[in-house]
Amino acid sequence: MSTSSAYSGAFDRLVAGIVPYVPQPIVRRLAQPYVAGTTLDDAVRTVRELNAAGLQATVDVLGEAVRDAATASAAADSCIRALDVISAEALGATISVKPSAVGSELSWEIAGGQIERVVRRAEELGSFVCIDMEDSGSTDHTLALFRRLREAGHTQVGTVLQARLWRTAADAAALAPLRPTIRLCKGIYQESPAVAMHDRDAIRRSFSRILRLLLGAGAFVSVATHDEELIVDALDAIDKTGVAPDGYEFQTLLGVRPDLARVLARDHTVRLYVPFGPDSYAYSQRRLRENPQIAGYVARDVLRAFARSVRRPPTQPPYGGTQ
Ligand code: FAD
Repeated sequence: MSTSSAYSGAFDRLVAGIVPYVPQPIVRRLAQPYVAGTTLDDAVRTVRELNAAGLQATVDVLGEAVRDAATASAAADSCIRALDVISAEALGATISVKPSAVGSELSWEIAGGQIERVVRRAEELGSFVCIDMEDSGSTDHTLALFRRLREAGHTQVGTVLQARLWRTAADAAALAPLRPTIRLCKGIYQESPAVAMHDRDAIRRSFSRILRLLLGAGAFVSVATHDEELIVDALDAIDKTGVAPDGYEFQTLLGVRPDLARVLARDHTVRLYVPFGPDSYAYSQRRLRENPQIAGYVARDVLRAFARSVRRPPTQPPYGGTQ
């Protein structure tokens, strides 16, 4: 491992360690650029703006770790409502669904049934559903669900592979004969070294290798990264494989490197991940953990809050007495 990647690895671990202790209101405020808002109307407004700028979207109804069947079913209903509105308004957008938002922590049978319901509606409307990938404990189930849906004849469904998992090259090879639609990303969940690579350069090499494997097998790949080195590598792989412009796309997250999305969209399809909903805390925490400037932002925000509290005259308790 190089000295610089050892330092940046230590810094990443430090930052990842700070975020859980940042108060919720500060997390929400700092994470505003990453989330379209709390309502479907907010998401629609954001997608319209993106479409006007030549960008596509994949809309995610925020929520995860749902542990009762009624909430799981309501979450799937929200996805279906989003699909209906996307279709009615002729927006350039698809849908992303997290298995844990539709009950996977309760039972994979329930989550699978709910996701199939969403996929059916997407097919009726000519849209598409991506099953997001969560932590490594869910990888087997998610891939099995994806395979089951494809084998049941559903074509408008894809899933995600995480380049940092040691297992992913083998997973990609096993899925390749399906010519799947795959979002390839590095992977955001914190995993043990036995499960996932922790060295940045190793993760990059894994990404590059899996991308070539998938493109070579005729899969539709969504290259989901803001890492310029990987984007340049992907452009090279796309060129060398001779894949047609409708055989791949780039994906980025709302609020992350908008400049990059705009530049790539001049010559390629670019789709932004647009999350919305009242339940944004877990998603926001993950985004802040990855923001290279997070330590500075948090420090500034905490100092500002401290300065405000020093300037403000002390408040009296509502019914007298001491506070
Ligand atoms: P990094 O090295 O993390 O980032 C490269 C550069 O991008 C940084 O130097 C910085 O300039 C910028 N950047 C990255 N993140 C931020 C940020 N939060 N704020 C400000 N700047 C930032 N992961 C999963 O595990 N499962 C999924 O289903 C999943 N879906 C995704 C969908 C999309 C469309 C995208 C783009 C990512 C998704 N991810 C998912 C997250 C992914 O795994 C990475 O954690 C995330 O993309 C950051 O990695 P990176 O490749 O951009 O490289």
